Parts: sequence; structure tokens; C-alpha cells
Amino acid sequence: MNGSKLKIALVSSEAVPYAKAGGLGDVLGALPKVLEQHDCEVMLFMPKYSSIPEDAHKIKINWRIDDLSVPVGEKHFEVHLYQTTLPGTQTKVNFVYCAHAFDNRWIYTNDPDENQRFIIFNRAVLKIMKRMKWKPDVIHVNDWPTGLIPLYLKTFYKDDPFFASTGTVFTIHNIGYPGKFHPDTVYLAGLDQTKFFPGGPYEFWGMFSFMKTGLLFSDIITTVSETYAEEILTPEYGAGFDGILNSRKEDLVGILNGVDYEIWSPEKDEFLVQTYSSKRLAGKAKNKEFLQERVHLPVKADVPLIGMISRMVDQKGFDLIEAILPQLMQMDIQLVVLGSGLPKYENLFRDLHQAYPEKVCVHIGYDNQLSHQIEAGSDLFLMPSLYEPCGLNQIYSLRYGTVPVVRKTGGLADTIVDWGQSLLEGRKNGNGFVFTNPHPEALLDAVHRAVLVYHNKKEWAQIVKNGMKADFSWEKSAGKYLQVYKKAISRRTEKPLKPEGI
Ligand code: ADP
Repeated sequence: MNGSKLKIALVSSEAVPYAKAGGLGDVLGALPKVLEQHDCEVMLFMPKYSSIPEDAHKIKINWRIDDLSVPVGEKHFEVHLYQTTLPGTQTKVNFVYCAHAFDNRWIYTNDPDENQRFIIFNRAVLKIMKRMKWKPDVIHVNDWPTGLIPLYLKTFYKDDPFFASTGTVFTIHNIGYPGKFHPDTVYLAGLDQTKFFPGGPYEFWGMFSFMKTGLLFSDIITTVSETYAEEILTPEYGAGFDGILNSRKEDLVGILNGVDYEIWSPEKDEFLVQTYSSKRLAGKAKNKEFLQERVHLPVKADVPLIGMISRMVDQKGFDLIEAILPQLMQMDIQLVVLGSGLPKYENLFRDLHQAYPEKVCVHIGYDNQLSHQIEAGSDLFLMPSLYEPCGLNQIYSLRYGTVPVVRKTGGLADTIVDWGQSLLEGRKNGNGFVFTNPHPEALLDAVHRAVLVYHNKKEWAQIVKNGMKADFSWEKSAGKYLQVYKKAISRRTEKPLKPEGI
């Protein structure tokens, strides 16, 4: 380590407030603040998508590090560095800008050059660190878009003294996105093509996977909840990586994501029509009324309003919801859904709204303000995920007094305690409703139970109170990350960089 502060480079394709597609953005926006409080010097590296407004975020080009050329196969792309400071922190945000890769495109695309976009990003990040002469103790990379960095350190930079004592941590936010591309990627990424063979370090079911290189070549692997860390060791949840993960079991750590309560607290949420707390719950009723008006549902105080905010993909359990819709529509409930994703699910909810305009409202798209208003205005929050690495919305829901109905998997299992079960155990510490089997009947049963208890004011008040007082702030998780960073650094000093299997 150089000096007293630990130098941590956080590398990601998303970070709030600049670019967010899901929980990854929330986590990377919050982590710098937390690490600084633990005496770390943090730098954040992310792509500069052209839709990130420069003026609003005070982003400026750094002319001194301007003429970077990044190779992709035989081509070279010009990369520029833009910088700003993350609000409320000392963290310098380093935006990698490449017109070819990031202009007129948002975070993820299905374009044929998606692999090239992130090859450019991964290569540029390491070049920029060297140009800046900023030598990190740990490079903490996140999910497939950053999965080449640990590999590059063990290939291109294996004899470079600059990175000789830099440890790497790779965090899996979702193993279901392998970053899998055509084998040509090996060539485009500048790697040794003879190393692409079945079972070799670069091959993943006949393709090249950025996730695989991240998993194989990082010093330590973390994921975002303890239960998910166990689940991904099984074929059912490992998405084809369970073999690799079992081989690296000793280096795999589950650390639950924290919540940034500066952003997600009903006491100070600027998007709410009225702020509230567990002691001033009347404000929550106002938010329900406001939400019902805003989404054109009948204003009814006593009808349970069920909220959902989600990427509309199979992972989130939409097929389970689809299967119970006939029964759900027979119940005296309202449903407000915010999200976008697979057309089949978008259309499902559009059709449902057409058929039941008095019961269902759907907003297809991304809307940060509405997401806060749904958290505040709903009574129940539905998250029947087939798998869920951590999940943030159920944790936000707890703080907003909105009772989660979840499947017992990953981070949902680690944060939500079933009310009925807690009664059976005489603990009354339940904060939601949990079902286990990924079957429609199990989901329906959980919704039925929740709606039944909703009408029992005393029990409901207890569940809401249990949820609102729970504390999932970053404090606990920060200490665990620090331990992991120290372990990654000790790997570097114990065993110098050596290429493994390459
Ligand atoms: P995932 O990362 O798998 O999408 P998480 O629960 O970890 O799921 O995080 C999702 C984050 O993205 C939450 O902050 C949620 O509020 C937000 N989000 C998801 N969809 C939308 C949307 N359509 N509009 C606004 N925010 C959204």
C-alpha cells in the first residue's frame, strides 16, 4: 500500500447519478461515499455515454490525457478522458469517452459491436490509470462489462511494475448476464487466439465470455448477498459458471448491498408529495392518494395497492404473475406497474390495463421520480423473482412502510422475514410475505395472505413498523468490502502476478 489511504478504483458500466439500468448503478453511486468514510481514496471509472449531461454534472474534459489510442483488433480508436467529482464526496469520476463506442447509445445495446464497446472501455481504464500515474491498491470491477480487466492485468501488464501490487476484486451483480460474444472477440481483445479451445480460459459454450475472464483472473470474487453466493455454486442458479465458481469457492464472498438512505428515505425524499416516517405515518396515506390520482386509479384508501418496479424479464418472475392474473383480478386490489423489457410482458400489462382500467395501471419505461412515488404510495410491493442476487426494491420498500411479497431466493431471502412464519415462532418480527416454490399457487397464496393481513390493522401496523425500523445501511457491508480488499492486496504481495492457464 502506498501511504496510509487505501487506493480503490471502482470500475463499472453504471453509476448513479450518471447512468443506471438497475441495482448496479445504485451500488456504484453509493460505494464511493462509504469507502471514503473508511479512509479510502476512491476513483470511479465508467463510460461516458453521450446522454450523460456534461453541464448538469460539471463534467470537463481532461486535456492532459487526451490522445489515447485504444486498439481493437487491427483498428485503433481515440479515447478521451472526462472528469468530475461525485457529489458529496472527494471521489473523482473518470469518464472514458470514445465517440465510436458511446455516442448516441445508452448503457447496453444489442448492437453487433457491443463486445468492442466494452473492450475499448476495459483497455482504456488501465491505460488511463497509468497516464494519470494513479496506482490503485485494488481495482474493483463489476459484472461482465468490466470482466477483461483482471485478465489484462495478467497478460498485457503481467510484467509491468506499475500494477505489480494491485489486487483485483470482481463483483457478480447478476451471473445471468455472461457477456457472451462471438469467438472473434479473442482477437479483437488482443488476446492469444491459441488459448481459445473447449474448456480453455476464454471459451464458454463455444463463445467468448467477459464474465468468465472476470471470474477466472480476479484475486477475489464477491457477490451481492450471502444466499446468492451459495446458490450460484449450483447448476440451477450458476448459469453455466457453477463449475468455475466451485473451483474458486475459497475466494467467493457474499456481501449484501447496502442502501443509500440519503436517497431512499421517506423522511427526506424530494419526490414525495409529503414526507413521512414511522412516527408520522399519515403522510404515507397522502402519498397513496397522490399515486392513485397520478396513475388514474380510483382513490380508495382501504383497497390494497400493490406496486412493482422492475426490469420486465423472466428473472423477475413475470411468468408467475401472468399465471395468477385471473385470480388476482378477482380480488379487491389495485396494481401499479413501472418497468420495461421483453415485449411479451410489456404487452401483457398493457392488455391488462385495457381490460381492468379501474384496477391496473402500467407505465412502460424508466422513470426515477415515479419509482420513488410507487415505493411511498403502495401498500404492498411484489417481487416474485426466480432468482435475485440482492434486490434493492424490497429493501427500499421496507423503509417506505411498503410490505414486500417476495420469493425466498438470494438477497430476498436475506432481507425479508415472513410474517406468518414469525408468528409461528412467536417472534412477531416478520417484515413481509415470503413464498418458496417458484409456482403460481405459491405466489397466489402469499398475495392472499398479505391481503388478508392488510385488513387487520393491528397486525399490519406491526409489519410496517418492523420493516421501517430495519437498517440496511452500507455500514456493515463496508467493513466486509475492506476485508476483501485487504485479502486481494495480500494475494498480490504473497504471490506475484502469474498467468494462470494462459
Ligand atoms: P436489478 O438490478 O436486477 O434490475 P434491483 O432490485 O437490484 O434489480 O435494482 C433495481 C433498481 O432499478 C432499483 O433502484 C429500481 O428502483 C430501479 N428501476 C428498475 N426499473 C425501473 C424503472 N422502470 N424506472 C425507474 N427505476 C427503475
